[in-house]
Amino acid sequence: MKGTRLLEYEGERITKDEGDLRYEGRPFTYLFGIGKGDIVIDGHGMAMFVNHSCQPNCETDEINGRVFIKAIRNIKAGEELTYDYWLYDGDDEAPCHCGSKKCRGSMYSPAELKKQKARRARKQKQLRKAAKRGVRSKANGSSAP
Ligand SMILES: [Zn+2]
Repeated sequence: MKGTRLLEYEGERITKDEGDLRYEGRPFTYLFGIGKGDIVIDGHGMAMFVNHSCQPNCETDEINGRVFIKAIRNIKAGEELTYDYWLYDGDDEAPCHCGSKKCRGSMYSPAELKKQKARRARKQKQLRKAAKRGVRSKANGSSAP
């Protein structure tokens, strides 16, 4: 039913820095930012198996530092639960193939996508500038991290 709390996103509360350390180099994490995003939940349990969709049937609801996954419309029996991950602050690509009409092609939030685009554009500009000056880095011709 719409509005029903289905699951709680359970897990250890750690700082975002701790989370970054724990999951460095791994393509997927189950960290869920709460509050201003400086604390994350290192998820375990059922909620971490809920997939992303750009047109989901659930949303997350933060209440006193606890995160619940709540139905935003009536869900048929056997229907897969999804919510919009709204990722931020990531370095890796997170392509979305949810197939919904409103799919934005990524699990990142629209604001984060904008930021990433700006970052890429800036990098390109720097590369072009470097090429013009004939600057080459020592190691393998790339100074990108
Ligand atoms: Zn999508």
